[in-house]
Amino acid sequence: MNARDSEHMIAELNREEAYELTENLQDADLIIINTCSVREKPVAKLFSEIGVFNKHKKPTAKIGVTGCTASHLGEEIIKRAPSVDFVLGARNVSKITQVIHKKHAVEVSTDFDESTYDFAEYRSNPFKAMVNISIGCDKSCTFCIVPATRGEEISIPSALIVGEITKAVATGAKEVMLLGQNVNNYGRRFGGDEAPCDFTQLLRKISKIDGLERIRFTSPHPLHMDDIFLTEFANNPKICKQIHVPLQSGSTSLLKAMKRGYTKENFINRCEKIRALCPEASISTDIIVGFPSESDADFEDTMEVLEKVRFEQLFSFKYSARPHTEAAAFTDQIDSDTAGERLTRLQSRHTEILDEIMDAQLGVVHQVYFDELKSGGRVSGRSDDGKLFFIQGSEELLGKIVEVEVVKTSRGALDGVLV
Ligand code: SAH
Repeated sequence: MNARDSEHMIAELNREEAYELTENLQDADLIIINTCSVREKPVAKLFSEIGVFNKHKKPTAKIGVTGCTASHLGEEIIKRAPSVDFVLGARNVSKITQVIHKKHAVEVSTDFDESTYDFAEYRSNPFKAMVNISIGCDKSCTFCIVPATRGEEISIPSALIVGEITKAVATGAKEVMLLGQNVNNYGRRFGGDEAPCDFTQLLRKISKIDGLERIRFTSPHPLHMDDIFLTEFANNPKICKQIHVPLQSGSTSLLKAMKRGYTKENFINRCEKIRALCPEASISTDIIVGFPSESDADFEDTMEVLEKVRFEQLFSFKYSARPHTEAAAFTDQIDSDTAGERLTRLQSRHTEILDEIMDAQLGVVHQVYFDELKSGGRVSGRSDDGKLFFIQGSEELLGKIVEVEVVKTSRGALDGVLV
């Protein structure tokens, strides 16, 4: 979502003036630090980055802080770092062209107006598009700062989404990534009058777009994975067979304290359903360890779900207490060493599982969509189920879906040859 917010800001800036991206700090007239605030570490890094940019930038260059940390710290950022020229929240990125002209402007409202999803066009990769289908989040997960920074959940009208994807396809994108905090809760609330449309119906509308070959989405919520949606996922040939099912914890009592709305058994049941309907699907997840009151037994539940589901990708984090969240006030916080030991155990077991999954790929043939030129005469792309591939090749492979056989495996990527 942050990557898409960055594209939106670039698009809006280009509407005003011809900006160009630069890798060289000394060339920049405008430096935008687009931030995350889900965990504490990136927030701490922000202030040291501002210091580095301020020291080495052109004297006239402006610095802006945008995104979720901007939303929740607001004016405090300018108080702590007066070299910052403006602060723009995650929900306010459409106002980028206004704040660049106002010294010390702070725009962090999480109110809704339609400009929050009305943007000019810009894509960092011509072969694929990211498209928001909803903004904000209505969940009340007790660990999570997102509802406070991105505001209430609003679904974007399906006609706008279809229009945006159709335009992207006309300019070379064969693949779309649909974005939202709870994509499969799409249709819960629209900004204005809209005919009812849920996520499954939206997927069907999008898959009718001629020339669009691949649909991905992130992130869905386990609570909204009903059979109708999972059947569409399995049977619709345009939907890539990769699904993120964020677990957070395997312990039912911890899931309750997190207000996730499902139990360990519900979660396993949904993953078994995915495997039954679509055995070729790869399942990824997010796990938090060291949530307040997590006991050894709670953690063993998480390990058990890992063994049962054998997630292909795991994004795992030590719990980080965040402002504006309920769990920050919970009294039974876990010490960092215990959380660290659990994280190491979880990650090392997952690494073993991943090695087994990847080793079994040798000789397997995948349909790979190549979208990036790499150094050393190589190109990279992804298989339908989301595996990263590298092969020897040049520009002419970009934007094409081709059959590739795996000739070498590693944990993070596969080397292949054209079949
Ligand atoms: N809407 C998504 C979450 C987006 S945040 C969902 O419900 O799945 C991405 C991930 O960051 C979360 O899935 C969670 O695993 C992690 N995360 C969120 N808050 C966190 C916190 N306070 N400490 C550690 N990890 C956290």
